Amino acid sequence: MSFCVLKFGGSSVASATNMSRVLDIVEKEAARGKVVLVSSAISGCTDALLKADEASIREMERRHGDIVKRLFTGLQRELVQERVDLLFGLLRQAPEAEKVTFGEILSTTILEAKLGEEGYRTVWLDSRELVVRDNEPETYRRIREAIQTTPADLYIAPGFICQDGKGRICTLGRGGSDYSAALFAAALQAHSLQIWTDVPGIMTANPKQVSAARTIPRMSYQSALDMASHGAKVLYAPTVAPAMNAGIDIEIRNSFAPEGKFTVIGAEKDPSRWIGVASEKGHIRLVGVELSGQDGQAEAEHALQEVGIQALSIRPDGPSLDILVKEAVLETALRALHRAFFQELPIREVNLFIAGNGVVAKALTEMIEQSAPSVKERTGKSLRIVGRADSRHFGIDLGGAPKLEQEGDYIEAILQQAPKGSLFIDATNSETLYERYASLLEAGIGIVSSNRRSFAVPYPAYAAMHAAARENGVILRYGTTVGAALPMLESIARGANSCDELLSVEAVVSCTLNQILGGYQPGGESFASLLRKAQRAGLTEADPRLDLGGRDALRKLLILSREAGVQLEEQDVEITPIVPAELFQGTVEEFYKGLEAYEGALSQAARASELQGFRRRFVASLEKTADGYKACIGIRNVPPVHPAYHLRGTENAIIVRSAFHPYPLVIQGPGEGAREAASSILNDILR
Ligand code: ASP
Ligand code: MG
Repeated sequence: MSFCVLKFGGSSVASATNMSRVLDIVEKEAARGKVVLVSSAISGCTDALLKADEASIREMERRHGDIVKRLFTGLQRELVQERVDLLFGLLRQAPEAEKVTFGEILSTTILEAKLGEEGYRTVWLDSRELVVRDNEPETYRRIREAIQTTPADLYIAPGFICQDGKGRICTLGRGGSDYSAALFAAALQAHSLQIWTDVPGIMTANPKQVSAARTIPRMSYQSALDMASHGAKVLYAPTVAPAMNAGIDIEIRNSFAPEGKFTVIGAEKDPSRWIGVASEKGHIRLVGVELSGQDGQAEAEHALQEVGIQALSIRPDGPSLDILVKEAVLETALRALHRAFFQELPIREVNLFIAGNGVVAKALTEMIEQSAPSVKERTGKSLRIVGRADSRHFGIDLGGAPKLEQEGDYIEAILQQAPKGSLFIDATNSETLYERYASLLEAGIGIVSSNRRSFAVPYPAYAAMHAAARENGVILRYGTTVGAALPMLESIARGANSCDELLSVEAVVSCTLNQILGGYQPGGESFASLLRKAQRAGLTEADPRLDLGGRDALRKLLILSREAGVQLEEQDVEITPIVPAELFQGTVEEFYKGLEAYEGALSQAARASELQGFRRRFVASLEKTADGYKACIGIRNVPPVHPAYHLRGTENAIIVRSAFHPYPLVIQGPGEGAREAASSILNDILR
């Protein structure tokens, strides 16, 4: 004959409603075979009986009376109430030490009466006679004998209470009903031991402290014991040994959600290296299995440091880690450790629609492919290129392998197909693509752009894009447009966000001109020849006059200024080109000829500057004056104390002066290059 032992905790039987749930669970199991029901006292009862003052006893009388009233009717109600009254009479007369044992007697008396009423053949087993503390063999013998001599379908036994070796009534310790149940299960070689409580099994942390805690579906006896002996209240630690020795699985179930998640504790191996985190008196126990706890030490330290907690001690104890923290930070520490060891960040898919097929787009594609695994691990984001386009063709494949074979309107296709949370990457040099930004943003598609033409548009258009992004809760980022991977726009925006007043910005952001001016020596290679070389090396625009004319620097200055909250327009900027305006007419070849002819004037200016100990830099600047901000672009002679004096090659720099700080903020570094641009776009995507 095979038994199932069901144990219910105090909150599972705390009221008539709760008891009805218990009865449902018991009846289901009783339909399958013999059942031993072990119950705790109704919640709060043991505490009240330990106090044992008249007020506490009265309150318990009231609660039990209430349960009886709701569970029974008519004559049966009177009979059960009589028995309850009798028990309260005995309780009042009982020796001080025995009063605490009445809670379990009361709860099981009511449960037995109800099950009897429903027609079950029930027997109430007196645990005070059967369970001998610290003597398992004798306990098992007595339980078996009692069951053999009193046949029934359903046995009901109070948990917690027992006798010592000399026949004196006592208890198994607080929380001991779990252990009672294990003793019954072991004695009867039960096929199932179910501990029904008010949480869904043993969880990776106490859900009252860590809301992200989740149920551990299966675990070994060892780790259950480790959790239970270090503060996991859901299971009384001594429960594990009898079940383990008898080879019985322990199920920890939630009586408030009987069909929900639960834990099975058994002989199998644990499914993972780390099992859960428990805590007691400032000690945190990170329960692990197999390897030495030492290999979690660094990660635990790191997790705590991230929330500003210095552990008082961290030491491995077998496969687990014992961590001591100040009581005041206990819950923060628990959450941080839980996050690090048990919470996998949900991986978020980010679908990317890239526009542009030039060097930046290619570098970006390559970079995304290479860095995908590490990005996923670092940020929990899984990047997938699902759209691409050059100026004539496009391809969209939500599976991640788009081919450039379709003709038509790429943006329209994106609007129709893009899943929520997609990003549009503008890696083109298009003058007009910005006109489509609003429709993308309004469709909930964020934009990351390296196309500075999109942001050097008239201010109202610029402001409208930002408004569309804000209103639709999506990103619009373009950190790449000034200084490539250097954090220039970010730094400017930070000042503006914190109401730091911008006094001036000097931006040396024209890579082409930095390179040429830096390499230009009066009397050496001519300016025209250096420019040609730069053009051949791909450092200039197709028409190098765009660089010399300061067009590119103008765009960057507009973007920088707007980021600082200054509503600068193109016509507000005073540009002094390096070479006379006439040279800007005609063909590129005519321009080069004219430039050769102008070499004398250029070298003279350079020599004059050199004699004074200056260097020539192409500077775009914005300065606060008595009547507003003044913006200019042109060559400036900078002295050695100026941060721009030391720039090398294509280096960029911005020098920002603001009201908050006596010294300028200087950001300097590589401001050009396809890889730099790609890395900057990637960071905007991930930020
Ligand atoms: N009623 C006892 C206690 O509160 C035993 C138990 O609930 O397991 O400690
Ligand atoms: Mg308990």
